Amino acid sequence: MENNMQIFNTLTRKVESFVPNVDGKVNMYTCGPTVYHFAHIGNLRSYIMEDVLEKTLRYVGYDVKRVMNITDVGHLSSDADTGEDKMLKGAKREHKTVMEIAKFYTDAFFSDCQKLNIKRPDVVEPATNCISEFIHMIEVLLEKGFAYVAGDNVYFDTSKLKDYYVFSSQSEKELMVGVRDDVTEDTNKKNKSDFVLWFTKSKFDNQELKWDSPWGVGYPGWHIECSCISMKHLGEYMDIHCGGVDNIFPHHTNEIAQSESYLGHKWCNYWFHVHHLNDKSGKMSKSKGDFLTVSLLEEKGYHPLVYRMFCLQSHYRKPLEFSYEVMDNMENAYLKLRKTVAKLDENTDFDQQAFDTYKEKFTQALEDDLNTAMALTMVYEVLKADISDHTKLALIRDFDYVLSLDLAAGEIAEENSVDEELESYILAKIEERKAAKKEKDFAKADAIRAELLEKGIILEDTREGVKWKKA
Ligand code: AMP
Ligand code: ZN
Repeated sequence: MENNMQIFNTLTRKVESFVPNVDGKVNMYTCGPTVYHFAHIGNLRSYIMEDVLEKTLRYVGYDVKRVMNITDVGHLSSDADTGEDKMLKGAKREHKTVMEIAKFYTDAFFSDCQKLNIKRPDVVEPATNCISEFIHMIEVLLEKGFAYVAGDNVYFDTSKLKDYYVFSSQSEKELMVGVRDDVTEDTNKKNKSDFVLWFTKSKFDNQELKWDSPWGVGYPGWHIECSCISMKHLGEYMDIHCGGVDNIFPHHTNEIAQSESYLGHKWCNYWFHVHHLNDKSGKMSKSKGDFLTVSLLEEKGYHPLVYRMFCLQSHYRKPLEFSYEVMDNMENAYLKLRKTVAKLDENTDFDQQAFDTYKEKFTQALEDDLNTAMALTMVYEVLKADISDHTKLALIRDFDYVLSLDLAAGEIAEENSVDEELESYILAKIEERKAAKKEKDFAKADAIRAELLEKGIILEDTREGVKWKKA
């Protein structure tokens, strides 16, 4: 298949032409959420941009199969092998069982995704469904000499690899800084960077979910799930694997180590990582406790798709800082867009040539390492262009397959929206009142205020001038 898709590959640290293993088909894997709490809008930035990637690949003609895991066991509160199990932490917090927590937050995650028009992956598989696959992979790794048992846990032996830190030219020491300071050294490990494949000796005796295994009753380490779940559904060769940048090390590094040792060949060709959403105090994270969710944005009156547009406006490889000011501007822009598109008249001529030209430009923007800001600009260019309404509408609908902003779904009634006639009447009355006040005719000014109130409009004198709102 002909294509010009260019994408940054973390593995080579270069923008490269995207060429899948099988012509026309893409195997795509996404690290899913750890379902011990609501997803914050930072997590959702990653899922929005991965959704844009999937839809772009489909838009340019690929047949995509996308798989996502749900981490419902094994992810510890530190990214290393120590710390409390995140699921257990959630269960304790809410006085529920781990499985109740997992179900509740998995549903909450997909409900947020739906609000943000993030397509559900073709396959979604919870880690707890695949314990026998994990055990099998660990057995093979032991047989091949890539793993060892120590202190009743099974570890991956990173010294058996030629190249463990595949993602970075940094030294091992520098990378280990990524593993938190509060990590107490596990004396069972032969090398500092070794990681647990299977735990039977946990610091936490009350770990709820445990399974029988050749090494005793226990539970899997965090990384094994993504290797096994992706191979279960996508086979031995993967085209593209996604996640947020914090997944690069240790999670993706360890996924590659165990997968390639198990398979005996290269596993995944392209690695796509989305940079973080930050708030003023730094990276947004669930462990901080106080984080922003889609529901919170809704409570504050924002349409969820305004947040999607906020994300699209910035490149996925740049950190993005969240601010309510930018959200307010985005909300205005979004409502205006919906209004403008709603006014387009479909009963006009269709211009195929113009359609093809603009579609080509839009495609080029996305093929250029997912330049979503430019793709959004194309929406404005189309609306400004000297082409028929029908052509504009067809283009906006076509672009929206990838943008997924519901641009052609009709106007959204603004809280303060009134018909144009009433709006110009209000503005004229405000001017009249201003003039009356200048002349010190306060009785007239008050009468105008009262007259507007009768029509359901409240005037407010603010430092920035007179504002009006519906009563
Ligand atoms: P988790 O639920 O913690 O396993 O994370 C789910 C996804 O969100 C992973 O791909 C993370 O890399 C990503 N992620 C975590 N924090 C952020 C953030 N502040 N901004 C963007 N993506 C994030
Ligand atoms: Zn993963």
